[in-house]
Amino acid sequence: MSSAIAFAIFALAFITLAIFYLFFYPDWRRQRTLGQPFPERWRTLLHSQVPLYSALPAELRHQLEQHVQLFLAEKDFYGCDGLELDDRIRLTIAGHACLLILARSWSEYDEIRSVLVYPALYRVRGHENDGLLVHLSDEIRAGEASSLGQVVLAWSECEQAVNSPDGPHNVILHEFAHQLDYLDGLADGAPPLDRAQASHWQQTMSRAYEHLQHSLHRQRHSWLDPYGATAPAEFFAVLTEAFFQQPQHLYREQPDVYEALKAFYRLDPAAYPRAARTACSFL
Ligand SMILES: [Zn+2]
Repeated sequence: MSSAIAFAIFALAFITLAIFYLFFYPDWRRQRTLGQPFPERWRTLLHSQVPLYSALPAELRHQLEQHVQLFLAEKDFYGCDGLELDDRIRLTIAGHACLLILARSWSEYDEIRSVLVYPALYRVRGHENDGLLVHLSDEIRAGEASSLGQVVLAWSECEQAVNSPDGPHNVILHEFAHQLDYLDGLADGAPPLDRAQASHWQQTMSRAYEHLQHSLHRQRHSWLDPYGATAPAEFFAVLTEAFFQQPQHLYREQPDVYEALKAFYRLDPAAYPRAARTACSFL
């Protein structure tokens, strides 16, 4: 065989492999992952750690399991500050994160590469240079989302959310809502919407955001987390927490906002009766 023919065969094989890797490998790998049975132990953990899972209709529960399988197969988890990761931590985070895309496309999490988990609230030191002065900052955080595909969470805060499933805070839902917001390249509180949804979303959310700001300005009590008034991006993240954690309350207080979120998430959490939590035997 001449060296030219050998080179041509090698080049052809290389191109074939490259095409397979670029266009078919992700789907092939996903189908392989979804072909695996969902472990009963994981199911028990979802019942105990993701309260809404038990309340979902059967087909949505199955869909959540599939998304969780993909999440655990494709996203890298890292324990920080000595935290040892186990299935309870992974399933708690994956289960809540996947609620947001339960009725949407798995591909919306394509850009998320890794989840970093600290044992508790963590400190972030930084500096900002405005051209004249360098400003030092020192913040305590419960979580953060990066447009570079990274989510950071404090496990103590995640556990608090699990223990208060009807409470206003859920750091996992909050940070993954930011990830959806980043999908169109802007952290502006408006995730990707089709043309028909976009103008209705803009009107509804702007009105609700201003209402929250006015209420807080007049020092009136707001049932919604005041942190939502700091920026439209935070408003969307806080509303997402309320939509999944306190759906009936959100529907009663702001039905138009609830309907906008329902149309976006394609879910109706207010209609799913919450089941009593089951004890977890895998602690
Ligand atoms: Zn936030």
